[in-house]
Amino acid sequence: PLPVLAVVGRPNVGKSTLVNRILGRREAVVEDRPGVTRDRVSYEADWNGRRFRVVDTGGWEQDVLGIDASVAQQAEVAIEAADAVLFVVDAVVGATDTDQAVVRLLRKSGKPVVLAANKVDGPSGEADAAALWNLGLGEPYPVSALHGRGSGDLLDAVLSAL
Ligand code: GDP
Ligand code: MG
Repeated sequence: PLPVLAVVGRPNVGKSTLVNRILGRREAVVEDRPGVTRDRVSYEADWNGRRFRVVDTGGWEQDVLGIDASVAQQAEVAIEAADAVLFVVDAVVGATDTDQAVVRLLRKSGKPVVLAANKVDGPSGEADAAALWNLGLGEPYPVSALHGRGSGDLLDAVLSAL
């Protein structure tokens, strides 16, 4: 079986956009507002000749649990099944309490984590990304899932973690 990369984070941080960037095709569902349910969340990816599975999360964001519990629950299930985790944070918004809750789950899991500081669309966002060192998860990789900026370095880090 292929190694599994779980992509976790709050609604709207750009997880699905980043999954599409990794895949090199628009397969994961990107929404301007959260709450779209879909059944397929696992995709086969290939980066520099290495094949792995990417698991997108967040298709059930508006269920009865509410956003916070839902994010935590989906993250927990996905982390459990993963060999490595790509944790996506919106660098422009910065780390929220929900992000901190995911950080605690990640620590507990002991799984290798790569931190994506997303929505760094230009050089002015680099400082926002650097602020995420505070999460204690190591180097934040500044990336623009939308435009592709930084995605090469991020994916190299992912391959090292898998
Ligand atoms: P998800 O809920 O975490 O899967 O987030 P989506 O991938 O559905 O993206 C949510 C919104 O953020 C969409 O409107 C995306 O176009 C936007 N978005 C995603 N990545 C970026 C980025 O790197 N820069 C900017 N400016 N917007 C982004
Ligand atoms: Mg999504």
